[in-house]
Amino acid sequence: MRISARKLKKSLSEEILKKAKSIGEICMESGYPCYLVGGTVRDIILKVPQIDIDIVTEGNIKLFGDVSKKLKIKKITLSQFNTAKLLFNDGCSIDIAQARKETYQYPASLPVVRRSSIHEDVKRRDFTINTLLMGITKNDFGKIYDYLGGIEDIEKCIIRALHKNSFIDDPTRIFRAFRFKERFSFRFHRRTKTLIDNAIRSGVIKKLSPQRIRKELFLLLKERRWNKIVLSLSRNGILQELGIKNELNRVPINSFEKKINDYINIKRNWELSKLLLITEYANGKEIKTFSQRVGLKKKESMLLLELRKGRKRILTTLSRKEVSNKEIYWLLTSLPLDALIYLLSKATSQSRKGILLYLNDLKNIKIKIKGDDLKKLGIKAGPIYKQILKMILNEKLNGRLKTKREEIEFVKRQFK
Ligand code: ATP
Ligand code: MG
Repeated sequence: MRISARKLKKSLSEEILKKAKSIGEICMESGYPCYLVGGTVRDIILKVPQIDIDIVTEGNIKLFGDVSKKLKIKKITLSQFNTAKLLFNDGCSIDIAQARKETYQYPASLPVVRRSSIHEDVKRRDFTINTLLMGITKNDFGKIYDYLGGIEDIEKCIIRALHKNSFIDDPTRIFRAFRFKERFSFRFHRRTKTLIDNAIRSGVIKKLSPQRIRKELFLLLKERRWNKIVLSLSRNGILQELGIKNELNRVPINSFEKKINDYINIKRNWELSKLLLITEYANGKEIKTFSQRVGLKKKESMLLLELRKGRKRILTTLSRKEVSNKEIYWLLTSLPLDALIYLLSKATSQSRKGILLYLNDLKNIKIKIKGDDLKKLGIKAGPIYKQILKMILNEKLNGRLKTKREEIEFVKRQFK
């Protein structure tokens, strides 16, 4: 099978194709084959547009240090696993890996890596759909090499692991499996699902380091259908392995995007807001376990605990009709944006008004006079300054004292 130039362009830009060709030439000159590989080829076949690409070669990665000028490479980063990240002047990046074989000394360990052939390299990968290669040298540009039935599985929409120990060796593949399944609306091959279930039941997820779990969790929260993935993780007992005991409720998770997109225009991923939703019905102990297993930072974990206790009080106060701007401000000012977005997703129409008023307006209200101005008014420096400034802010929050002059007049009235 050979991919046509037209189909290639649906997934990759001219620029990146040109770079791939140059890399193909360089590898060929030194006598080593090289290919596009893994998710890159999968996405070409699925016509998914992509910016960065992965290449594998049997040649030595260090080679690229010598040709960086010719390729207009801005920066090369080499890793312990013989991979190189080439960052180009125009901002795009290409990952090149030296073909390798991996062995795992114990479950969930990092692999021991040995240099190997391309053929061995595809066998260390996670799923058949991620094992495809595409030639990028003059002779085979666009040619697909399919050693393990990847094309057929893409056509049949199947996620299939390569061998029975796959998820024990590397349990991050369990998270990857659910991520790809939802992203592409694929299904698990029956045997693969059994392997996943057995791996979950064996408790191997707990053996992963918190950093590795965090990386997988945050990656899947970035997916468009993150809510489906999280519900699957819950239904399949994976969230339970991370410390959240009860199965999640579909309703609050599914309405999140809808509720916040109506109001908030900021392009961000809201991972922390999503974690607040995920841990919403967990108790303090569960949240602590979860935070530790998924390597949350102290600040993140504190926020989960704080809102578990405080969200009801905040939302109830906000939903009172007579709540003042001042009250809204002091209720919300210590919370990070992710927490406000989470609250917005939980809010009733009345409390939503308060949060939006804070986000669009109150948050930006600043007092104009400074300590120096108070000095000039003859007020002796001390803790009183803070009190005065707070009083002025409160006045402004409730719509008074628009100008600096009015602020000064206010101080004169109150303190002279
Ligand atoms: P995405 O579109 O999310 O980037 P991807 O398939 O490209 O998906 P990457 O994490 O970029 O995933 O990895 C590139 C390739 O490396 C994969 O397609 C797969 O072949 C291989 N790979 C990545 N992680 C693993 C893993 N944990 N176990 C085995 N192979 C892996
Ligand atoms: Mg990728």
